[in-house]
Amino acid sequence: MVSVRIDNVSKSFGSVQALRNVSLEISNGEFFAILGPSGCGKTTLLRIIAGLEKPTKGRVLFDEIDVTDVPAEIRDVSMVFQFYALYPTTVFNNIALPLRSRGLSPSETRERVVEIAKLVGIESILNAHVDRLSVADKQKVALARAIAKEPQLYLLDEPLTILDPVSRVIMRAELKRIQKELKQTIIYVTHDQIEALTLADKIAVMNFGVVEQVGTSSEVYDHPESVFVGWFLGEPGMNFVEASVEQDSLRIGGKPVLSERRILEDLKSKGYEKVLTGFRAEHVKISKTPVTRLDGVAVIEGVVRVIEFMGTYYVVDVESDSAEFKVKMDPRIFSNLSIGEGERVWCSIPLDKILFFDPDSSKRID
Ligand code: ATP
Repeated sequence: MVSVRIDNVSKSFGSVQALRNVSLEISNGEFFAILGPSGCGKTTLLRIIAGLEKPTKGRVLFDEIDVTDVPAEIRDVSMVFQFYALYPTTVFNNIALPLRSRGLSPSETRERVVEIAKLVGIESILNAHVDRLSVADKQKVALARAIAKEPQLYLLDEPLTILDPVSRVIMRAELKRIQKELKQTIIYVTHDQIEALTLADKIAVMNFGVVEQVGTSSEVYDHPESVFVGWFLGEPGMNFVEASVEQDSLRIGGKPVLSERRILEDLKSKGYEKVLTGFRAEHVKISKTPVTRLDGVAVIEGVVRVIEFMGTYYVVDVESDSAEFKVKMDPRIFSNLSIGEGERVWCSIPLDKILFFDPDSSKRID
């Protein structure tokens, strides 16, 4: 296993700037996810780490050794892609090939193939031809073949994306188990926040070729450093409502929502007259009767516009003057409250669940 350092890497394809000054540190044995929307530069970054692409600027270091100019074949990495590329032969041969080319004897090869097949959960299909396998099993074979190379670094590019939703959930859990047993450094590219949040020790959230934040799942989810990270993570994403910082209160659409002196003075001392108030839909409590503002709680009065049932929870859209935000509700609480569209509601949010963002830079105000 190896540590990886990306030092100020940029990459342009003609006029398209795919990566801008990306710096990352990935520790030995870490499961590191690169998360972001389509086109944000994830695959380009992975290909640069693999040596399949050269950065326009910056360096890539493995265990602090500069490998920027080292060709892909001798970087000792295994890549697993979204679309598996398997040899048209048996599962056994697919796993055995990298072992044979490393000079293992037939008996050593057999032993190791069985060991890897057990780890990945495909020992019962070793004699099957890959053409006859399900997509999920094909992807497992691709993973087994990557493991057979015994690389110092695994690079996985959206390996679960082509699977159906049920297989994806099963494979996600399998991957977590395999990584625990392998104890190897894995860099995992995905646009799926659930994969990143559940699998990774650390996540780099990217947007437009820039790393917006690096942190653990709870750091990026609970303390997003930018509006983009708050919005991209979560279903629904974080709410952002513009508020004005007045003498006596923070106001949304002219109505006071909180009057905590400590918060107001802090924002005013930093020169803010307007801020974006960020809070998660699951931290809002709805009431059909007026709620008075208390210490430690902000209250926003509004009207229910749309109610959506999402299978295991409800999302209630609330409008308050010019602002709109979403509230996530447990079905039990929803049916006890029995709210309907068009109804007036009072929404309470604990102050320790509210974050403030700069409306110009979109960065969190510390
Ligand atoms: P996706 O999830 O859709 O694969 P991504 O986040 O992996 O997206 P990249 O594939 O790295 O993003 O692409 C980043 C940007 O660079 C995109 O605008 C893409 O069109 C461009 N790009 C990537 N590879 C090339 C190339 N070989 N030539 C020209 N432009 C490229």
